[in-house]
Amino acid sequence: MKTRTLKKDKVNIITLGCSKNMVDSEILSGQLIANELDVVHESAKKDHNIVIINTCGFIEKAKEESIETILHNVELKRQGRLDKVYVTGCLSERYKNNLEEEIPEVDAYFGTMELPMILKQFEADYKAELIGERLLSTPQHYAYMKISEGCNRTCSFCAIPLMRGMHVSRTIESLVDEAKRLVQRGVKEVLLIAQELTYYGLDIYKKRELPKLLHALADVQGLEWIRLHYAYPSKFPMEIIDAIKDRPNICNYLDMPLQHASNNMLKAMKRQITREEMEDLVGTIRQRIPEICLRTTLIAGFPGETRDDVEELKNFLQRMRFDRVGIFTYSHEEGTSAHELTDNISAEEKEERAQEIMEAQQEISLEKNQEKIGKTFKVLIDKKESGRYLGRTEFDSVEVDNEVIINSKIKLNVGEFVQVKITKAYDYDIEGEVVD
Ligand code: SF4
Repeated sequence: MKTRTLKKDKVNIITLGCSKNMVDSEILSGQLIANELDVVHESAKKDHNIVIINTCGFIEKAKEESIETILHNVELKRQGRLDKVYVTGCLSERYKNNLEEEIPEVDAYFGTMELPMILKQFEADYKAELIGERLLSTPQHYAYMKISEGCNRTCSFCAIPLMRGMHVSRTIESLVDEAKRLVQRGVKEVLLIAQELTYYGLDIYKKRELPKLLHALADVQGLEWIRLHYAYPSKFPMEIIDAIKDRPNICNYLDMPLQHASNNMLKAMKRQITREEMEDLVGTIRQRIPEICLRTTLIAGFPGETRDDVEELKNFLQRMRFDRVGIFTYSHEEGTSAHELTDNISAEEKEERAQEIMEAQQEISLEKNQEKIGKTFKVLIDKKESGRYLGRTEFDSVEVDNEVIINSKIKLNVGEFVQVKITKAYDYDIEGEVVD
């Protein structure tokens, strides 16, 4: 019995967590639409009667947000405002049995690899031919491309392999095909994502084939920007840097989470690399492409982290001068090997250390932005907000990096590239004017 006079079911997909989860939601949307279902993504409207929550189970904060979202929607169902609530994604993969016991009002829970099972709930069939045909949840001029699933690494703090399984690469052919379809739909920038980007190909091609994939994607007509996220530093294939150097439509940008810089912590985190090796790697990359933008991610408050470790990390940041830095506070995740250690750093102390490290980085970020004043950059317009346009250079990824604030008397179009001369610099963002 339907709660409202809806002619047919309307599904709202809610995505929590990372860009990889978002791609899964986009693929699910594409499959449901191909089976003639009415689908929206993150709709604030109340015109849907079914919700699918794609959860995140990475760290404590993310798990709490996922559970709150589930509870909110089962309450809407109890009030008769929803007919069905389904849950999928990493939290569901990891804690299915507990969730079924604790929140039985959910109609069904699915793991991260159970798309066909979700479709069955709608008497829908999985359509393999739909590669790339997904309901983009990003603005139409950029899209994420997930080149592989899962991870074979054993970082001691990380629960992702528990939820996403072992590394599985997609073929170069299927990714090139997907990129062509995305360009036909107006996409100009693709952001390559994976749990571990540099492992690409080791399973299906028995060797690291990311450089080959990059050249194949760079050959796709109309693809203006190709951006690399989640590279792993250990055994880093330098051919990747050569591909970035040789192909103008591969952004001079590399996101490479390093997590820490004290050898004591790197060992405890099982990162398979030392601070010295990371310094050599960064040095070699910069030697080959001096203007490359390096982004990294760090963890504050890992078990046993001493004051000296924090100072070593800050010192490393001062010397390496990364362009972009993100930081997480350590989350004690059962099922990871770090869970055997004592989580001896308090939540407040973790936050303070994270703050301290970001303050050190803020100065570097401002100095680097000030060096851009007077220079002109190719900028992709992302949106218009309070009368000003916001965009990005090739050195800025979406949502996590800096923005370019553009003052323009003439109308600019979202999704177009313009030349912008930088006039002002802030801690994170820069400002400029359109020049011909
Ligand atoms: S590389 Fe390490 S941190 Fe990244 S997903 Fe794999 S195990 Fe987790």
